[in-house]
Amino acid sequence: MADIIRLLPDHVANQIAAGEVVQRPASVVKELLENAIDAKATEIKLIVKDGGKTLIQVVDNGIGMSDTDARLSFERHATSKIQKAEDLFNLSTKGFRGEALASIAAIAHVEMMTRTEDQEVGTHIKIEGGKICSQEVAVVPKGTSLMVKNLFFNIPARRNFLKSDQVEFRHITDEFHRVALAHPQIEFHFYNNGGELFNLPANDFRKRIVHIFGRKANEKLVPINEETNVVKISGYIQKPEFAKKSRGEQFFFANNRFIKSPYLHHAVLGAFEGLIKPGTHPGYFICLEVDPATIDINIHPTKTEVKFDDEHTLYAYLKSTIKHSLGQFNVVPSLDFEKDQNLETPYDFKNKNAPVPSITVDVGFNPFKETSSPKRTPSYSKSSAKGWENMYEGLEKKSFEHGASTFEVESEEINSTIFDSDKDVRDTITTTFQLRKKYIVTTIKSGMVVINQSRAHQRVLYEGFLKNLTIKEGVSQQLLFPLLLSFSKVELEILKEIKENLCAVGFVFGNIEDDAVEIKGVPVMVAESEVQMVMEQLISDFQMEVSEDSFSQSDMLAKTLAKTLSVKTGEVLDDASQLGLVNDLFACKEATLSPFNKRTYITITENDIDRKFI
Ligand code: ADP
Ligand code: MG
Repeated sequence: MADIIRLLPDHVANQIAAGEVVQRPASVVKELLENAIDAKATEIKLIVKDGGKTLIQVVDNGIGMSDTDARLSFERHATSKIQKAEDLFNLSTKGFRGEALASIAAIAHVEMMTRTEDQEVGTHIKIEGGKICSQEVAVVPKGTSLMVKNLFFNIPARRNFLKSDQVEFRHITDEFHRVALAHPQIEFHFYNNGGELFNLPANDFRKRIVHIFGRKANEKLVPINEETNVVKISGYIQKPEFAKKSRGEQFFFANNRFIKSPYLHHAVLGAFEGLIKPGTHPGYFICLEVDPATIDINIHPTKTEVKFDDEHTLYAYLKSTIKHSLGQFNVVPSLDFEKDQNLETPYDFKNKNAPVPSITVDVGFNPFKETSSPKRTPSYSKSSAKGWENMYEGLEKKSFEHGASTFEVESEEINSTIFDSDKDVRDTITTTFQLRKKYIVTTIKSGMVVINQSRAHQRVLYEGFLKNLTIKEGVSQQLLFPLLLSFSKVELEILKEIKENLCAVGFVFGNIEDDAVEIKGVPVMVAESEVQMVMEQLISDFQMEVSEDSFSQSDMLAKTLAKTLSVKTGEVLDDASQLGLVNDLFACKEATLSPFNKRTYITITENDIDRKFI
């Protein structure tokens, strides 16, 4: 057989390498910002258009490059940062692989302008798909400007794989946050589609955090500090009462480099144990300084996963340092989660101002109809006693009452299978009971149904919200005193994106300012005391998830609201609420599953029970 092994041409090798280094526009941002930092810049500008798909530019005032270096920098394995393998064990720079520029140039249109301090004129290079198109003398300021246009122009599959501009922009912002937080002493500017999003003057770490996450961030921070022979720990943790339902602001930096470390994260969680509610996550901005020889950052091309020599010691130190700070700043005693909920004023009413009385006319009121509604269910559930009837009558006009306004919608036949044969089930539903504050049990002719209260309520709320979103008739309650909630810039951007849909479910917005939003009204089922939590949850869900089109945006919004506002496991429901929830559930289009595709109920037939007695 003839020889078949060939060496790949450079441009192919570079494209393949690019796949590892450049997953998306945010990866380019990271590489370029890190190069600027390695070049000792004191001021860095990031300019982005269309989520980085059209343009990513980084301008720095660092050391610049000579003509020859400028050209060489685009070669693979071209680096000024290491010379021999041993250098890997004593790194003080962000980059060292010499792959980034070669990879980026292989898959985009790149222009570089650069000048060193001692040169009079600089150089201007254009490269497309790895090929140098031109190199000219240019009058440019000291430092380097790197422009990356039309990323993945020659790899359509990768380009098509990119998410919406907003989603890519969010990844870029995350990357920007990480780099800007790791280097508070450098001035950063970030322009998105022509507007300045961040202007971060050189500052200390705390002020940098506040500049990025908004004024409200400041009061949350508790400093941590510890110096031992293996590690210097500094930075801030957020007070336990600000723990969020989403993992938002969690940052580790090792020797000024953002890192991910599930292991150390676990240490932080350990320190917070017992201080935060289950299911919530503490925020932290933790800087670790270790001897560069004791850390291996070479294990992953994007260099966010690192290996410490002595992780166990680090773990122990970190945990005790945080515990110490939490104790020292006296943030612990103010918390008390062990209270018996039953003895408390209901959550909804605790912080309420006296509401202005309002008169609503229930046009669908029928004095002979049994009405009931589960705790905190939307007012449409008042019509839900009809739910059972609907199951037998098929297509019919169904009316939903929304406070004072009533409208009619055509409802499809409700396809619930379990009761089809139990025509007289209505007569048998007289009792429900709650099992372990988690399930609602009720009987049907063939046996019994066990309903997961939380999932069932999620389904009910979800369908209610979806309906509101579709017909844009969410009913809101005006707040007596508008709430002023503060948000970071990125959160505000997201809020603006989903604002229209939020209005559709019943939120009413006033002024939206630099870092605060006025909320004048909320959906009827949202208590005033919950507004902040609901908004934060919404924003963080949208931050994490992809919301490509308006359908999935509505869907996500309905899901998040349903999840946040639903009755939870552990909540006691009175008889009327139990019955109301059961009715509401079986009036749903898809009663069997929660919006997150979990079973809402199971049935146990007489047969099943008989078999147990054999
Ligand atoms: P690495 O950063 O791993 O060395 P890169 O491909 O990112 O590899 O960059 C190659 C080389 O180009 C760097 O080692 C550095 O010498 C030079 N370089 C890249 N960006 C800049 C910049 N903004 N200013 C000065 N030099 C730069
Ligand atoms: Mg680099």
